[in-house]
Amino acid sequence: MLLLSNLLSDISLPVDALLCQDTLCNSHSDSLEWYYNKIIDCLLSASRQSVPVVKTGVQKHWWTPELDSLKQECIDICHLKSDWPSTEWCYKYRAIEKEI
Ligand SMILES: [Zn+2]
Repeated sequence: MLLLSNLLSDISLPVDALLCQDTLCNSHSDSLEWYYNKIIDCLLSASRQSVPVVKTGVQKHWWTPELDSLKQECIDICHLKSDWPSTEWCYKYRAIEKEI
């Protein structure tokens, strides 16, 4: 929250636009738009710096090192048994992997 506060504190307030009483005013729209975009930039910048991001599907929160070794074991077996008439079970493994 301190990060966001610091970023927001660098924005100059468009005081004239914020104090304008004219509800149909067009002359301050550019400065209000600029102010809005600056706030959005700050929010995005703060989130990029503070929210961990992981690609979707890359890592499951429940995945364990044991599952890594089991997965590798399955892949190795798939490669070793590639001369089998059917690789049906490999497809089944991949289908299961997609489900979990
Ligand atoms: Zn105005």
